Amino acid sequence: MNVTDIFETMEYGPAPEAATPALAWLKERQPFGLFINNQWVKPASGKYLDSINPANGKPLAQIAAADSADVDAAVAAARSAFASWGKTPGHVRARYLYAIARHIQKHSRLLAVLESLDNGKSIRETRDLDIPLVARHFYYHAGWAQLMASELPGYEPVGVVGQIIPWNFPLLMLAWKIAPALAMGNTVVLKPARYTSLTALKFAEIMQEVGLPPGVVNILTGEASQVGEALVSHPDVNKIAFTGSTDVGRSIRRATAGSGKKLSLELGGKSPFIVFDDADLDSVVEGVVDAIWFNQGQVCCAGSRLLVQEDIAERLITKLRARMEKLRIGDPLDKAIDMGAIVSPGQLSEIQRLVAQGVEEGATMWQPSWACPKDGYFFPPTLFTDVAPATTIAQVEIFGPVLVSMTFRTPAEAVALANNTRYGLAASVWSENINLALDIAPKLKAGSVWVNCTNMFDASSGFGGYRESGYGREGGKEGLYEYVHPAWEKAIKPTGSTSVAANGSSLAGDGKAPLEKQFMLPTEEEEQGNEHNGLQLQGGLPPIDRTPKLFIKGKQVRPDSGYSLDVYDPQGHVIDQVGEGNRKDIRNAVEAAHAAAGWAAGTTHNRAQILYYIAENLAVREEEFARRIGQQTGRAYEDAAIEVQTAIARLFSYAAWTDKYEGIVHRPPLRGVVLAMKEPIGVIGIACPDECPLLGFVSLVAPAIAMGNTVVVIPSQSSPLSATDCYQVFETSDLPDGVVNIVTGEREALSSVLADHDDVEAMWYFGSADGSRRVELASAGNMKRTWVSYGHTRNWLDSFQGEGEEFLRESTQVKNIWVPYGE
Ligand code: NAD
Ligand code: MN
Repeated sequence: MNVTDIFETMEYGPAPEAATPALAWLKERQPFGLFINNQWVKPASGKYLDSINPANGKPLAQIAAADSADVDAAVAAARSAFASWGKTPGHVRARYLYAIARHIQKHSRLLAVLESLDNGKSIRETRDLDIPLVARHFYYHAGWAQLMASELPGYEPVGVVGQIIPWNFPLLMLAWKIAPALAMGNTVVLKPARYTSLTALKFAEIMQEVGLPPGVVNILTGEASQVGEALVSHPDVNKIAFTGSTDVGRSIRRATAGSGKKLSLELGGKSPFIVFDDADLDSVVEGVVDAIWFNQGQVCCAGSRLLVQEDIAERLITKLRARMEKLRIGDPLDKAIDMGAIVSPGQLSEIQRLVAQGVEEGATMWQPSWACPKDGYFFPPTLFTDVAPATTIAQVEIFGPVLVSMTFRTPAEAVALANNTRYGLAASVWSENINLALDIAPKLKAGSVWVNCTNMFDASSGFGGYRESGYGREGGKEGLYEYVHPAWEKAIKPTGSTSVAANGSSLAGDGKAPLEKQFMLPTEEEEQGNEHNGLQLQGGLPPIDRTPKLFIKGKQVRPDSGYSLDVYDPQGHVIDQVGEGNRKDIRNAVEAAHAAAGWAAGTTHNRAQILYYIAENLAVREEEFARRIGQQTGRAYEDAAIEVQTAIARLFSYAAWTDKYEGIVHRPPLRGVVLAMKEPIGVIGIACPDECPLLGFVSLVAPAIAMGNTVVVIPSQSSPLSATDCYQVFETSDLPDGVVNIVTGEREALSSVLADHDDVEAMWYFGSADGSRRVELASAGNMKRTWVSYGHTRNWLDSFQGEGEEFLRESTQVKNIWVPYGE
């Protein structure tokens, strides 16, 4: 080929990055051990596994195959390191994290080449994206270590954290896990993915270089069935942080149910890429390339569903095919290629299977005319048109370079189509009309929304899912809470203690109320009346029966079962009856709660007004509510009155918070802003505690509705009357129908129904340890968020335990909307 030929074709020559230093580094360390206590140790099994270069199918290195004995050793190392690391001053931890970031930069090229060799992703991406983001993550969290004491007062590290990561961004996922864990004072046992452990092993060397105390970070390579499962079920692990597929996430939810382990899950996605007809189509084409062909489409938040406004669909598809024809696939170490290899033969055949299924389902498949390299595991960029929204390829995460496209006519149709998925990780919106884009963004059920851009990440802006894409965030301040817990939790007592105030003090304060005041004084009516068949005779007339029913869609309705449950006083006398709700009542209540979704769209000012109004109406009946508490619990009037007054104050707190618990604007390193919005979760199921029948109910319902959620509430089973007495309070407070729905009955059975319900987005349960376990188990169905008490009581009267940020956080999820600007 001479110069004229080259000038004619304008072909790129190969521009390979040398693999020699990385290969030499690997060779010197063969075979790799496990990294425990800052030492390289042989696996207990004595077994090793090959790590393969997917671009040629050849082995790169031998890595140790850990098993449960190694997991025990690593967890023990992490536990003993936690004793001092957990108390290390923030500034000291900040210095270590800062050093790690610097060392990542020092070894950046070796890390980039290793990652590219082991995973098959292009060197351009590892060099320009993966590794710089890794360093940035450690710098950012060095800052949080420094600021933890002042910015997260009252919080402590959770302890030993088990972290499990996937193969698609091996070192980046490691950074997303380890940086916040160390910043908050936890110690770590991390399991890299089976196919991509090499950069994690280089990272272990960096831990030695910076002199991190032994045991703070431990790294175990091996098979999921040997290492992953043992880590998840280990009794001395306080938290599991997992990134991977939704199926495995679901099994981890079930495996940890009831254990009290904290859990964060970053799972799969099928993210929409929405193109309106006024979008800049040339930018859109480059956006699509980045959305679905970046990292060979092996990206959890890949824009894998192209949704195009009908009138421009043909034009865009034509442009896109022309661009696909020009994409270059080949040696990942060649700086001039666009796409590298698929990580493993198994993953490749899964992509092939799903693509074949798409063809079978009747969609039109298109691939460029050129052929992929024969050595190694390659798959060409693929585009499906004529895709029906319900088909497999439109619904299932393919996790490869496969794009499915569909069309819409109106913005409303675009939103409906975009949200027609069980996932909710990310979305991308393309339009030159910023008003339209910013109107659409809040309507999309996704943790990240990119306006006229895609696949943007930064440590300052939290990343994570809605729905079956998991829960918890990585990055941002919100991500820190995955690695801490409130310090007071240590002092909690198991349920069954009769004292209402968990700290053992009487509600009245000194616990020395005169004896006669410790029991309810009979009311005037009670003194006059005499009991007959459960009816109180007042001045000769039977009282008008006031049987509490259920409260659904703003109406008091009879339970479907036609049965009632007796409510007793502490002496065992029947004081009233409530409806016995069942599965059908719960379904009706959930439907009503969904129909009330407009509540979230209203102004925060309006929601605050209604909460104040509820407080006002409750205050009018303060005495009656206090007496009711006493009647059900046998507590002194003074104690009960304090509970009512605290409930009123709490309503004021959340009325106040309604327009103050707001989002923030991030400034990541780009020309633009990221709007971190706090959004309601949707429909929340709430099972109320038995202690504090009114305050427990109000403390949970008020933050949930203040933040725009609608709720289905199961009141305390032993003392439900304080909740049912609220029906009239709600009815006279302008609360829209369906925002609060109340179903009385057997708390355990009803909460399982709620936890199982696919249209409930979160479930809060304050009851027994066993009930907590059942709720967490059932929640795995649609991966709803849970918040349970594990059988511990909290002091609802205490303002730190009973109200505030923790409640607001549980009521919201953060959506990050990326808005780049400039011409
Ligand atoms: P995977 O779920 O098969 O494996 C993820 C990790 O879990 C691996 O380390 C694996 O060894 C381990 N594992 C597997 N089974 C386990 C078990 N039963 N117990 C404990 N650990 C177990 O996923 P993958 O194929 O490695 O990665 C692809 C998936 O990850 C995709 O679904 C993708 O969307 C998702 N992902 C999500 C994010 C995110 O941030 N949300 C990021 C990257 C990847
Ligand atoms: Mn590999």
